[in-house]
Amino acid sequence: MTSEKVNCLIIGSGPAGYTAAIYASRAGLNPVLYQGAQPGGQLTITTEVDNFPGYPDGVTGPEMMMQFESQARRFGTDIRYGMATEVDFTSYPHKVIIDGKKEIIADSVIVSTGASAKWLGIEGEERLNGHGVSACAVCDGFFFRGQDVVVVGAGDTAAEEASYLAKLCRKVYLLVRRDEMRASKIMQKRLETLPNIEILWNTETVKLNGEHGLESVEVKNNKTGEQTVLDVTGFFVAIGHKPNTDIFKGYLHMDETGYIQTIKGSSCTNIKGVFACGDAQDNVYRQAVTAAGTGCMAALDAERFLMEHEVEVIMEESAS
Ligand code: NDP
Repeated sequence: MTSEKVNCLIIGSGPAGYTAAIYASRAGLNPVLYQGAQPGGQLTITTEVDNFPGYPDGVTGPEMMMQFESQARRFGTDIRYGMATEVDFTSYPHKVIIDGKKEIIADSVIVSTGASAKWLGIEGEERLNGHGVSACAVCDGFFFRGQDVVVVGAGDTAAEEASYLAKLCRKVYLLVRRDEMRASKIMQKRLETLPNIEILWNTETVKLNGEHGLESVEVKNNKTGEQTVLDVTGFFVAIGHKPNTDIFKGYLHMDETGYIQTIKGSSCTNIKGVFACGDAQDNVYRQAVTAAGTGCMAALDAERFLMEHEVEVIMEESAS
């Protein structure tokens, strides 16, 4: 295995990672950024971004992420393809393995690995992904104009996706597994005003049917046991997100879902020299702009840490 020493390693390439890269590069930390499995992060599977300040006419997700990347490159960030597959934070400096074959020894690590949509794990879901199955109405809703679709979930995301699709589609079935929704009251009220949304309570998905594209969805009422087939061509899963933090388990403090816990008002984790930003540590706001803000915090915290660490080393050397 090859080994390389770096001053500042950034893992992940969403708004958090690239913002950290811009700040770290400008501060002279010579950051190396590994882009991960989805270069550009979740925004690359979004269409319009209308709420990022500075884009009065909106911008597409992929275009915005290309601009983030080129801004980071302009200040000299070393941006590389590759994914962190293992870490060892038991000793300092920190060790991170890339793609199982390259060892990076890092004086500071910024974790910006983001989060991914959760899936149901039912028959047909994986096979039909991209052929009727999606986790993003804003990205894919357009392809289902005038058709009948299903949304699964009962939180704010599901309510938002259903409302969005109701504007495009003929009929939207919202499958709620309990007899109430978790979504905020205002979002639920909004659903009531949309006549082409039908909420199916106590309803779970059994399987998805279709050869080359989705043709129908088998659902079951978990109170009565009654099974029904819905003839739909779109199936949108909106049951929450999971942070991409599995490789840090056992090292970084996390909540029960896997969101990294940072020290209040900072990006510092329980491990010295390891900082977390973006959706990997935020289950509340989850916005591009808040991710970028915490990316900036992580770079500033890393800069301060490296400076203090350098002073400590100089003092230790002069004392010995
Ligand atoms: P949530 O975790 O809030 O909700 C997930 C929903 O999915 C729950 O209702 C849950 O049901 C349901 N669910 C989970 N697993 C399954 C399953 N296997 N089968 C069927 N249903 C399932 O996630 P969200 O993504 O909706 O929201 C995350 C956060 O983001 C929240 O804090 C939310 O308020 C916020 N948000 C805010 C928005 C806004 O203000 N505009 C828009 C979108 C999100 P159950 O209730 O039975 O557990």
